Amino acid sequence: MPTLVYDETSAMRNNLEEYAKEGITLLCPRCKSELIVALDVESIRKHQVHPGIYCSKYPNHFFEMFEIRRPS
Ligand SMILES: [Zn+2]
Repeated sequence: MPTLVYDETSAMRNNLEEYAKEGITLLCPRCKSELIVALDVESIRKHQVHPGIYCSKYPNHFFEMFEIRRPS
């Protein structure tokens, strides 16, 4: 499975939906664990988190929150 280290740039942030579509797993920039990407209602419910990106190993170690975007 292709992976990418999330570098916190806005370019990557704008591409999150593309990565999800292409099945690319994003990795924590600090510990290289898989990141939980919860941007749609389904994954937000599944992970029971606020919309955003989280390090799956250390939830308080890396996270970014987003506003929920309306589906276009
Ligand atoms: Zn981490």
